[in-house]
Amino acid sequence: MKAIYTFGNGQAEGRADMKDLLGGKGANLAEMNLIGVPVPPGFTITTDCCNEYYKVGQEKIMELLNDEVTAAVKHIEDLMNSKFGDTQNPLLVSVRSGARASMPGMMDTILNLGLNDEVVEGLAKKTGRPRFAWDSYRRFVQMYGDVVLGLKPVNKEDIDPFEAIIMEVKKAKGVKLDNELDTDDLKELVVRFKAAVKAQTGKDFPTDVKEQLWGAIFAVFRSWMNERAILYRKMEGIPSEWGTAVSVMAMVFGNMGNTSATGVCFSRDAATGENIFSGEYLINAQGEDVVAGIRTPQQITKEGSLRWAKRAGISEEERVSKYPSMEEAMPEIYKQLNEIQIKLENHYRDMQDMEFTVQEGKLWFLQTRNGKRTGTAMVKIAMDLLKEGKIDEKTALERCEPNKLDELLHPVFDKEALKSAKVLTRGLPASPGAATGQIVFFADDAAAWRADGHKVVMVRLETSPEDLAGMSVAEGILTARGGMTSHAAVVARGMGKCCVSGAGALNVDYKSRTVEIEGKVFKEGDFISINGSTGEVYEGMVQTRPAEVSGDFAALMDLCNKYTRLLVRTNADTPHDAEVARAFGAQGIGLCRTEHMFFDNKKIKAMREMILAQDKDGREKALAKLLPYQKEDFRGIFKAMDGFPVNIRLLDPPLHEFVPHDQAGQQAMADEMGVTVEYIKQRVANLSENNPMLGHRGCRLGNTYPEITEMQTRAILGAACELKKEGFNPQPEIMVPLIGILYEFEAQEKIIRKTAAEVFAEEGVEIPFKVGTMIEIPRAALTADRIATRAEYFSFGTNDLTQMTFGYSRDDIASFLPVYLEKKILKVDPFQVLDQHGVGQLIAMAVEKGRSIRPELKCGICGEHGGEPSSVKFCHKVGLNYVSCSPFRVPIARLAAAQAAVEE
Ligand code: PEP
Ligand code: MG
Repeated sequence: MKAIYTFGNGQAEGRADMKDLLGGKGANLAEMNLIGVPVPPGFTITTDCCNEYYKVGQEKIMELLNDEVTAAVKHIEDLMNSKFGDTQNPLLVSVRSGARASMPGMMDTILNLGLNDEVVEGLAKKTGRPRFAWDSYRRFVQMYGDVVLGLKPVNKEDIDPFEAIIMEVKKAKGVKLDNELDTDDLKELVVRFKAAVKAQTGKDFPTDVKEQLWGAIFAVFRSWMNERAILYRKMEGIPSEWGTAVSVMAMVFGNMGNTSATGVCFSRDAATGENIFSGEYLINAQGEDVVAGIRTPQQITKEGSLRWAKRAGISEEERVSKYPSMEEAMPEIYKQLNEIQIKLENHYRDMQDMEFTVQEGKLWFLQTRNGKRTGTAMVKIAMDLLKEGKIDEKTALERCEPNKLDELLHPVFDKEALKSAKVLTRGLPASPGAATGQIVFFADDAAAWRADGHKVVMVRLETSPEDLAGMSVAEGILTARGGMTSHAAVVARGMGKCCVSGAGALNVDYKSRTVEIEGKVFKEGDFISINGSTGEVYEGMVQTRPAEVSGDFAALMDLCNKYTRLLVRTNADTPHDAEVARAFGAQGIGLCRTEHMFFDNKKIKAMREMILAQDKDGREKALAKLLPYQKEDFRGIFKAMDGFPVNIRLLDPPLHEFVPHDQAGQQAMADEMGVTVEYIKQRVANLSENNPMLGHRGCRLGNTYPEITEMQTRAILGAACELKKEGFNPQPEIMVPLIGILYEFEAQEKIIRKTAAEVFAEEGVEIPFKVGTMIEIPRAALTADRIATRAEYFSFGTNDLTQMTFGYSRDDIASFLPVYLEKKILKVDPFQVLDQHGVGQLIAMAVEKGRSIRPELKCGICGEHGGEPSSVKFCHKVGLNYVSCSPFRVPIARLAAAQAAVEE
């Protein structure tokens, strides 16, 4: 097994399509070499080795890889014309992580490796820059100490021991910035850093460069299993079996004075998707300084710089003297950088996120990857690349991730409300969207407040990977420091979270849990609003309004229609939901749960009366009261979905859900019905069941109380007849829930058809309608051919079907699901992601059996899975006609359905 792939000098053993083995970073480093982009030489240890590391352990893996690592280091030495650990002509390396899918900032990196007390002198002599050599050395000891030797504090209140030392030294010297420290100060830092290492670990800082290298390689392997990487994988659905690769590269230095620099750039805007080259850089700095948000980075392009200065309120003189763009400060390098970014985007045919370093006037690329982007940017970039002829329609569809469309459906600030909103300050528009919530300062507080039902905005000086869990539950993130490529910005964009970064006017005080903005102090729990599209920060709550489908989003949806075979309907119980879904492109209602219509104040009384009645007479009296309400509801829904099918399900849930369980409620019902409260209590007690999910519900209700089915049919078809006469085009479908045997269906169908004939005769019009059934009990799936002799369509109720196939209660799964997921007994929650092997097999079989009897049998799905991309794709594969999902998932399902057709 080949464990190591080298690259350098225009040659490489790997390629871009070897991400599984080399990780995204390793594969692209190889590819960049092959297409003539300047990359420092190096090698990549495969992801297989990471998995092997976890199997056989440190000693064994070292033994297995030792020869290959030695040869690969020699490869770098030869190309760099220097020697690892040499005291005259030393080679330094960086050791970087890189998984198959990019996980920005989640794993570890070590820079400047290969230094000790002798080598540093050699480096100083060789470069003629002692300050640079010692700056690199102190950075190395700090990073190695934090990452490899574990000195980085775990506790949020603790400060990094190295940072504490730096602060002490700066204080003693009376300076503020790192770059105000001279060589002697840096020497002192190294001595004190090493003493801190010794005090904490009991061991000397390793001086042997080989030992340093192995330590770093193992640390990167270990970081695959650190808490934040595990959490990130969970959020992004990345399997833990993938492992990380390790790339070891010759160091190039951005901290060698004023002709050196380091930066990150994007070939298009990652927040908006606009085709503008953008990015940030710092002169005389190393990579970590840009992302960490410690110094304010400068813009790469002049245009970006002008925009940045305007937003930050910085005058043109100040901008030019203090924060010039790279285009202005290093025009020659800028030209090369621009040429390469265009080359890389054209090569990968996607927006690139790149890292580079300039060492004494020479440009080097350290990384390129398809950039993380917001949902808006995802859609715009895909549609723009299509327009530019760089990708075809099918690729454009596949470039968009269905779940990410969710971000485009989030509310935006109401324009009117914004007019009167008070702008407190401005930061950078790091990730678009509108967020309103209560201020919290720490990730664990964000999680706790959220669990208590609060909406929160996380306010921080800057964020670090430890804040991931908090960021994921916050409405938005506001930071005082950090540019557009800071950790907060990059991660927020990846999550589709609204984020304003680098709002310099914020004075965050973690201790007192307050933030002062332009003289006004806000406490934890105070409301604040942020606009991630403009960078504005507002006082208090600002009203939002729903998003709409337009522009590139609409164009993408049109493209979906061109390829899709599977239609998308919606689950809606109100005209409003139906309208929202229709605006998102739903082509009909796949499930109208009629019971949801009864919870309204007036209706619930009549409903309770029906349930609590002593006999059929009493029930019929109550149903007669319900009829006009139901009819009105159905009129509204048919109108909202005019011209599209509307599938209405007969009453489904256990009756006890509707009756009052409290004393006051029971007394009120007794008064209303003119009976004693004891009677009501008795009836309520009679209705209680040991296992209501498997009790008196579904078609069992209509079969025991046929008058309910009769009333509902009257309401549905009566409403449809009226509308037809008014010139509308209602298309009713009546669905019988929860059947297990054909006769359950037949008995209901008989009532429906008989009532329909009566209604049509009374109304003097006839309306074509269908009678179908839910398939949500395994027995119904197993006998689908018999059921199809009567049922005109099937709708798979995969909530119940999952419940009954697994035998997991829908209501109680939370008691064991976390453990099952943890132990990997289940990979995902089967109530969210359709279990294709088991439940899916029942669906496929039922479709096949049903159509063997009735070839035109229409089949759909209306369980929660109908809006989950992988489940939608499965529905396409087994030949369903449509999926039905909640209104806000309609665009997601449409994209997944189109992708399923394209992938075929
Ligand atoms: C189902 O069981 O999948 C379904 C859609 O019905 P409900 O969720 O109302 O039981
Ligand atoms: Mg159901």
